[in-house]
Amino acid sequence: MSAIFSRLPTSIFEHMSGLAAAHQAVNLGQGFPDFGWSDAVVGEAARSLCEDSNQYPPMRGLRELREAVARHYRDRQGLPVESGQVIITSGATEALASSLLALVSPGDEVLLFQPLYDAYVPIVLRSGGLPRFVSLEPPRWRITAEALAAAITDRTRVIVLNHPHNPTARLLDADELRIVAEACVEHDLVAVSDEVWEHVVFDGGRFVSLAALPGMAERTVKIGSAGKIFSLTGWKVGWVIAPPALADTIARAHQFVTFTTAPNLQRAVAFGLSRPMAEVDETSSAFAASRDRLRIGLEAEGFVTLAAEATYFMTVDLAASGIDADDVTFCERAVREAQVAAIPISALYAEDPVRNVIRLCFAKRAETLDAGIEGLARAKALMA
Ligand code: PMP
Ligand code: GLN
Repeated sequence: MSAIFSRLPTSIFEHMSGLAAAHQAVNLGQGFPDFGWSDAVVGEAARSLCEDSNQYPPMRGLRELREAVARHYRDRQGLPVESGQVIITSGATEALASSLLALVSPGDEVLLFQPLYDAYVPIVLRSGGLPRFVSLEPPRWRITAEALAAAITDRTRVIVLNHPHNPTARLLDADELRIVAEACVEHDLVAVSDEVWEHVVFDGGRFVSLAALPGMAERTVKIGSAGKIFSLTGWKVGWVIAPPALADTIARAHQFVTFTTAPNLQRAVAFGLSRPMAEVDETSSAFAASRDRLRIGLEAEGFVTLAAEATYFMTVDLAASGIDADDVTFCERAVREAQVAAIPISALYAEDPVRNVIRLCFAKRAETLDAGIEGLARAKALMA
């Protein structure tokens, strides 16, 4: 049995969603929307399931989807992507796994920012890599050149960036991107840039891919997810975009991880990417309104919230809100005794966790948010 996997807890997202279902709680934990998808895109998947081939598509993905992904990034982000650089994967999670399995050799150091998406560390360890951490500090969670320099050694090979960042809801600014890019060029690192939240950006913020910075096109593995673009998180259609030599290596790993991804969903995503992006942008505006509703409701109940510039998430500072309980205690009691699920941020650290912050998913209809706010107010009354 693998010592690495047998020691791991069940993912906090699965844990909290299971408790939410068991206790009939409002689920503001795991990140999924309860509105915002396009009936036309779902309809295209249904049509394709009934009318098109249901047999194995090509290993790197359907040509029409790889071309649609390349065109999408040329048009929207000005990146000179060709379809030969695109590999379609079973979600961004598989894209991360295939990329890290392909790029990390035993003993390589891999730089990660904490808090982090929970899949990163196990995949790095399974690749034989040695994770090294840079901790982002609340309330601003900024990347600094000093912290980055202190964590890089001559064994560092890969840096994993998540931009915009889950769970802190930060859209990295130009200085932070420059700091990361300069470190990659100076130390000859490959950057795996998890950009799944690139379209869920609020208040006129402009997303810039790490691949767009000087010297980065030839060393960036960009990861995306249709689940996030189209508010269909269960579809698990993602992709890797990499310079040709890296893409070839990653494809070798991908062929032995999942080999391929459901062809009907690939067709529907290609269809979605060929439609005007205004609908996707309108959904982000609707999520911004949901964010504001949650913030106003929580502040009226005495909670202190942190900025949410992107993603589906807002964080709340429990200590500043007058709650002594740590994040795990708060979330475990809230779901059982106040019927609302949230994510304790400490579960998204590998070492030295912050223990006074919880994460809430606001990509929900008004009635879901209002029920969640009531639950959180009950939880606060229990623990203040
Ligand atoms: N990376 C980050 C930062 C995420 O937040 C998520 C999912 N929320 C993923 C990867 C996984 O995406 P997918 O569901 O496409 O595997
Ligand atoms: N990434 C999603 C989140 O942050 C959850 C994905 C999962 O459940 N594995 O909530």
